Amino acid sequence: MQTPSGSPAVDAATLERWDHAHLWHPFTQQDEWEADGAPLVVEAAQGVELIDVHGRRYLDGVSSLWTNVHGHRQPRIDAAIVDQLGRVAHSTLLGLSSRPAVELAHRLARLTERQLPGTGLGRVFYSDSGSTAVEVALKMAFQWQQQQQQGHRRRTRFAALSEAYHGDTIGSVSVGGIDLFHAVYRPMLFDALRLPAPEHASGTEEEACLARAEALLEEHGDTLAALVVEPLVQGAAGMRMHSPAFIGRLLTLARERGALAIVDEVATGFGRTGTMFATEQVRAVAPGAGPDLLCLAKGLSGGYLPLAATLVTERVFDGFRAPYDQHHTLFHGHTYTGNALGCAAALASLDLFEEEGVLASLPEKIAALSAAMAQVPDRHVIERRQHGLMAGLLLRHERPAAARTAHRVCMAARAHGVLVRPLGDLIVLMPPLAMPPATIHRLVQGVAAGITDVLG
Ligand code: PLP
Repeated sequence: MQTPSGSPAVDAATLERWDHAHLWHPFTQQDEWEADGAPLVVEAAQGVELIDVHGRRYLDGVSSLWTNVHGHRQPRIDAAIVDQLGRVAHSTLLGLSSRPAVELAHRLARLTERQLPGTGLGRVFYSDSGSTAVEVALKMAFQWQQQQQQGHRRRTRFAALSEAYHGDTIGSVSVGGIDLFHAVYRPMLFDALRLPAPEHASGTEEEACLARAEALLEEHGDTLAALVVEPLVQGAAGMRMHSPAFIGRLLTLARERGALAIVDEVATGFGRTGTMFATEQVRAVAPGAGPDLLCLAKGLSGGYLPLAATLVTERVFDGFRAPYDQHHTLFHGHTYTGNALGCAAALASLDLFEEEGVLASLPEKIAALSAAMAQVPDRHVIERRQHGLMAGLLLRHERPAAARTAHRVCMAARAHGVLVRPLGDLIVLMPPLAMPPATIHRLVQGVAAGITDVLG
């Protein structure tokens, strides 16, 4: 086998060795990574399957970290990227504009106007990841408040939910609330007002949290630049579900007290929860609860390329207009911001949403996922969590955390042809939206077989 440049391809064993010798994997204890033996090295993909360097095929059960929408090597997206490549791969948005960046901004403004009417999220600021989409939103909200009249200067804080996850940059970690990931960094973070979030969307638990959150917002609301939330599902917290009414009430309260509302749809956006944006379900019960800033990434490019967008209202945008020497400019921008290939992929992905009726196909798939999860025996599962195609099985076992039971289940599931990842004791199930119902059943059966291998 040869590489595209004509040099001989490196053999599988060498790749596996070089991985251990040179790669530092994200969110990974490398000692354990190396102890797990030869890593699974992806060579290729087809549809909803990933193929390793030995030619083994696996269902992509977590959409390549919650990104993939229409499957891998989707002909339409592949062609859009190749076509763009024939024009230009990248040019900067600092001092220049570009065709795909402009077209996508227009498309996103139209899309949000259709899905979230009246929110007026007509301005698009690009970056490269979910973390940067949030980081940008935090800086925008902070600076916007500072540039309002005097009274807003004390609005320097952010409110966020407990167990929140908004990314790994310092600002997004500051509003994050997962101790395992974030505690070590506390001394270098800014302090966020932490609002309690229930573990379940159950009435009484939610009401108690809401009462406490209301009191905190009442007391501190006039010091807040913004509230930031993941709507309906706190993914990284272990698929914690919240009702639309809970999120709607928080957004409304924060805005009533003069804070901006930052809605982080990095994970939930692009169909994941059954609607294009989870915020649509929030607005169905709380029509006024629109975001002032909306963070998008992951599925934005169909899961192809690192692309993110922070959408804001004209009111937020206008807060940055001023004579140059007032320094109201947003002094922020990443080198690859609005990358042409990423924007071309995103435009093709949005075309597919429209032409293939992706959203209309979801109810059947969501039902297939529930039905398949219901078949995993209760003796192995404490709880099945699901909203749309965001789901997880919480394992029932008595083993110590150091036994890494959920990790072992995921490793065992590979022998049954499926790739999934754990979050604590939860096995995450996040199939690409393109996965057919029968394949969703096969995915969950593979996971169930892995659970049985480990737990008996
Ligand atoms: N926000 C949410 C809700 C997420 O789930 C994630 C990633 O899982 C992020 C932000 C960070 O995105 P990224 O990993 O692209 O920086």
